[in-house]
Amino acid sequence: MRDGGLLISSSSTSSKLRSAASRGVDSIASYRARRGVEIAGRLTSAAVACGSSVALGISDLMRECASPANVWTARDLHNADGELFDGVGTFASCGVRLCPSCSASLRRRARRRARVALASCALRSGEHARFITLTMPTIAEASLLETIQIVHRAWSLMRKRKFWKANVRAGIKGVEFTVTPNGYHTHIHILCISKWIEYAGLRSEWSHCLRSAWRASGREIAFNTSHGEAIVDVRLVKAKTRASSTRVIVSLESALQEVCKYVTKSESWDAVPDAHLVEIAEVERWPRLFEVFGEMRDRHDAPETDRVFTSLDTPNLSDGAQLQFSFESSLAMPSRARPPTLRGLMHTLDRRTWLIILSLRFTDRRAYRRSVLCGLYPYAVFMSLDGVKSFGAMVG
Ligand SMILES: [Zn+2]
Repeated sequence: MRDGGLLISSSSTSSKLRSAASRGVDSIASYRARRGVEIAGRLTSAAVACGSSVALGISDLMRECASPANVWTARDLHNADGELFDGVGTFASCGVRLCPSCSASLRRRARRRARVALASCALRSGEHARFITLTMPTIAEASLLETIQIVHRAWSLMRKRKFWKANVRAGIKGVEFTVTPNGYHTHIHILCISKWIEYAGLRSEWSHCLRSAWRASGREIAFNTSHGEAIVDVRLVKAKTRASSTRVIVSLESALQEVCKYVTKSESWDAVPDAHLVEIAEVERWPRLFEVFGEMRDRHDAPETDRVFTSLDTPNLSDGAQLQFSFESSLAMPSRARPPTLRGLMHTLDRRTWLIILSLRFTDRRAYRRSVLCGLYPYAVFMSLDGVKSFGAMVG
């Protein structure tokens, strides 16, 4: 369940374990579909109340993504080693940040990118893997989007600082938020390769960058800490850790989970006010929430067999590409002009036509993705939540 919704069950496990794993993917699929519909419902009401046609259209997309015909579970998928496992995903994807299925896909994809990046960069003498957290004080009246923009601006300044460049050679960064009674606690996690990092220097540099970012956003905020500066944290990363040493040392797996969280877990949206939900839905281009930086090799696109489980319809989907996909028909030839994007259509069509087009495009995309999956996984059986089964070539 921790692996972005892809529950793995090896072929060597007993039938008892296999059936437990199968129940696992069923419950994950049902949970995500239910949560997707719940969040879409909240967004619909909020969008109507705010008069936001974009947010309304986004809620429609989310509902299609969470529909029983679109969410699948599969038995007997296989990996490169020939091991069989069960999985869960969506045929077509909405790509909306608020969507539980699509955000699980983003997390999974981020973890894959992070592992490749880490493997590409060997430690040099005097270097260690470190896990750094850079926090920002909560700003009571700020929206989530504003806090993300401010922390992103501060980060852009930080990575250009002499102190940072002299000590940190490469790394992976993720932005995360939690909701507190005083506002959003938006912060950055970094898993990096660095020389010794002087704690006081890091704190002072980050505080400087935050002050500049605040000023640029028209805010003058003070640090309400005993030292008058931001709170930062640095830990050593080890492949394996002892429970007694976790205060200063963090395991590689924990660090990876943190940097690849992709903003938040879906339950956190429950604590976000309706108006902020609308604002998030309306965002067309997000600041980069996950990135590989410095001398680590980044792999944006996984091979098709790997990528297919992300349920993402566009291999190039990135932080800035939300809803940029067009649902080309399975019959479409590459030379044909691409149809308008759904985001483009929701601006121009009347609601009734928009819903019809949306449904048709999802249906078309679903059929295409179903056939691709059955081709890639010839031993697998896919079943959508509406009970429709599809069989891989070797099964059917
Ligand atoms: Zn989705």
